[in-house]
Amino acid sequence: MSVASSAEAAFQKHYGSAPAGLWAAPGRVNLIGEHTDYNDGFVLPFALPQQTVAAVAPAREPGWTVHSDLADEPVSFGTTAPGDIGGWAAYVAGVVWSLQQAGFDVPPARIALSSDVPLGSGLSSSAALESAVLTALTDLGGFDLPVEKRPGLAQRAENDYVGAPTGILDQSASIRCQEGKALFLDCRSLEVEQIPFDLAAAGLAILIINSNAPHQHVDGEYGARRKSCEEAARVLGVPALRDVPVEGLADALARLDDEVMRRRVRHIVTENQRVLDTVELLRADRVRDIGPLLTASHASMRDDFEITVAQVDVAVEAALAAGAYGARMTGGGFGGCVLALIDADRAEETTAAVVRAYAEKGFTAPTIWPATAAAGARKL
Ligand code: ADP
Ligand code: MG
Repeated sequence: MSVASSAEAAFQKHYGSAPAGLWAAPGRVNLIGEHTDYNDGFVLPFALPQQTVAAVAPAREPGWTVHSDLADEPVSFGTTAPGDIGGWAAYVAGVVWSLQQAGFDVPPARIALSSDVPLGSGLSSSAALESAVLTALTDLGGFDLPVEKRPGLAQRAENDYVGAPTGILDQSASIRCQEGKALFLDCRSLEVEQIPFDLAAAGLAILIINSNAPHQHVDGEYGARRKSCEEAARVLGVPALRDVPVEGLADALARLDDEVMRRRVRHIVTENQRVLDTVELLRADRVRDIGPLLTASHASMRDDFEITVAQVDVAVEAALAAGAYGARMTGGGFGGCVLALIDADRAEETTAAVVRAYAEKGFTAPTIWPATAAAGARKL
């Protein structure tokens, strides 16, 4: 059964009536541009076919009730403040709160959620959930809320209500991506450009390799990287590391005493440039040629930003050894997924090579599938 039909069936089962509509929002992979979002830099995500669907109807009773096929119990809440609701339902209560904070009169609603975005794998199931609910409530309430303002409200739910200090990448991708395109986002101006990303036409494919590695220390390490970048920007006297161009990198590094901080800065500055270079190549229809940039991004995350783990490094190495044009970890790090750019007819060999490498290392088996660039949040 599709995610949409199971959300609809779940609504019917739990509430005894049909939903007013179905709203979908996808998970995402970031093609390149990691940890650049909170440095006011550039990112280039695309949306996955995996999505979260919210079946929603206005409620006659006050407040909100939400079921998820990934949770045992429904959760009901009235108007809340950060801290009132914990666990998975905080993402939903956070969206209601964030809309209310922005001045919207959010209609009481019944919600049933179904999703096939893997949770906690760096494919942004959290943003898919927030974006589906935000889009549904915006439509039901008839809010005048332009699409470019929506990611910020979903991000606020995650930052200030759930308490996860993430940047604007995930929600922007889930809300603003388009089918067949990668989303070139300037995280300072929030301007976007839809970049053609037609892998099939080039005879190429992207494999997503979920390392299935247990996430460890993610929140603490993420916060530490963020602090380090902010501290470096302060020392360098710039508003954000985005303001250090790659030509100014050597000068900037010479002005920093701390070796760790120097490496963090080098990752962000070179990563921003790699996003710009990737966009140039895609605009020129040279998809295959982005491979080395992907691999360089991985090396930078591994050696300078230090956010990879053995499982993702092994997946990258095995994919490259099997002939991939490029491969990198995608997402915040410390586990999660790797993407590999390959010839479309090499998917089986590449998959087998990665599976073999994992078995040799004694790692839990990876999950591997080809990705296509799918649509962003929408009413179905
Ligand atoms: P990621 O966004 O990479 O998948 P996060 O830790 O940011 O990982 O978000 C995962 C959390 O989001 C889950 O632990 C759960 O609390 C919540 N979540 C996401 N999707 C759903 C869903 N469909 N139903 C219930 N909770 C969900
Ligand atoms: Mg998330």
